[in-house]
Amino acid sequence: MAPDTIEAALAAPPDHPQFLVTFDDGYTDVAEHALPILTDLGISCVHFLISDAVETGQCKGIPAPRAPFLDRKGIADLTASGHRLGAHSRSHARFDTLDAAELARETDQDTFAYSCDRGAARRLFAYPYGALPRSGLSLAPNTLAFATASVPARAWDKAPQAIRRTFLPSDDIDSWPKLTDHWRRSWNP
Ligand SMILES: [Zn+2]
Repeated sequence: MAPDTIEAALAAPPDHPQFLVTFDDGYTDVAEHALPILTDLGISCVHFLISDAVETGQCKGIPAPRAPFLDRKGIADLTASGHRLGAHSRSHARFDTLDAAELARETDQDTFAYSCDRGAARRLFAYPYGALPRSGLSLAPNTLAFATASVPARAWDKAPQAIRRTFLPSDDIDSWPKLTDHWRRSWNP
């Protein structure tokens, strides 16, 4: 689905299976390698950005990034190409290790500075490592948050809004066919 149709899909379940492509962390290699291919396929995506990384090029939680982080110019190019931005914390800390004050800092208004694009009804957030806080974090009600949970897959027609997230590791491309085959089979009734 196009990223700006997320709100409509939440309000009324779509009548056929759909998928959304998302990228975490905001690396320049995504813009260099993945986006030209996705553009050719007519697919626009959600990019979850770490605010410290956008502002300074560095991020405490990822001290040795695999590629440079996108800067303001890079993310402006993304939105100009129809992609949507979400927040991915301030420093990419694991939320299940943080206290209340640290959680508040990792999700404050500055963290979402890059995600309030195009007047969308919801702001998007992806927990670093998919890890939920142990307790104590309440995001604003208009936030759609993505986390990781191991639960049995449910067929699409039984749970059309129980959105699954399948992680495709960039350093293990050989695993992708198996991961995506499982995804397709799990969504079939
Ligand atoms: Zn991440």
